Amino acid sequence: MAAKPFNWPNGAKAAVSLAYDDTLASQLDVALVQLNQHQLKASFYLQLSSPLLTARLSEWRAAAAQGHELGNHTLFHQCSASKPGRDWVAAENNLDTISAVQLVQQIRLANSMLFAIDGKTERTFTAPCGDELAGGQPYLPLIYDDFVAIKAKTGPVVANMAQLNAYAVEVIAPVGSSGAELIALVKQAAQYGTMVNFTFHGIGGDHLSVSAGAHAQLLAYLAANRDIYWTDTFLNIMQYVKAQQPAD
Ligand SMILES: [Zn+2]
Repeated sequence: MAAKPFNWPNGAKAAVSLAYDDTLASQLDVALVQLNQHQLKASFYLQLSSPLLTARLSEWRAAAAQGHELGNHTLFHQCSASKPGRDWVAAENNLDTISAVQLVQQIRLANSMLFAIDGKTERTFTAPCGDELAGGQPYLPLIYDDFVAIKAKTGPVVANMAQLNAYAVEVIAPVGSSGAELIALVKQAAQYGTMVNFTFHGIGGDHLSVSAGAHAQLLAYLAANRDIYWTDTFLNIMQYVKAQQPAD
């Protein structure tokens, strides 16, 4: 048999982290509206240089006041241009040509900007493109002390909470998924007694999108089954998870 089941709050079977990367209009126009309709809390990973940040600053600030997390997704969303399919990475945003130390300085400035927006001193980070090397050097270990947890790259539903590394959490990044497909993933997490981490981009618009209808189906299912699924910000979930883990 598997290891002893993980103890989620209020007898829940699984935790669900809904996250939205890249500071997109459809996240405010569609995702946030649906989340608030169902009283579900989520994490929005902002790219601080996005024009959408300043253009709709009061709405991002209001989302934080409603209990959603504003997470750090760096200032400029640098990704490695040397990887396959990365023709879109602009030369000035090439993660291969910035040093890890410079990137860390930018990430800390992004945290300061987020603090100016929401007044919070604790938050989580999502690595742009799931890339872990800046200038050829692993940069994530340099920011462990700056964050409660990190969504590092894509992967399956968490298989075992005892082995979860809070600084290398794997996410599912659905694109074009149906509501039924999304619900199947949360059911899998309940079966395992673990957590599922979604990283969405556009919802009913923008890039790498999931339809508004599929997203609404997932949220309705989570809201109707709150006894089974603890849906919350990645920050809140990971603070709880870390408190359960033996100190090292
Ligand atoms: Zn991104």
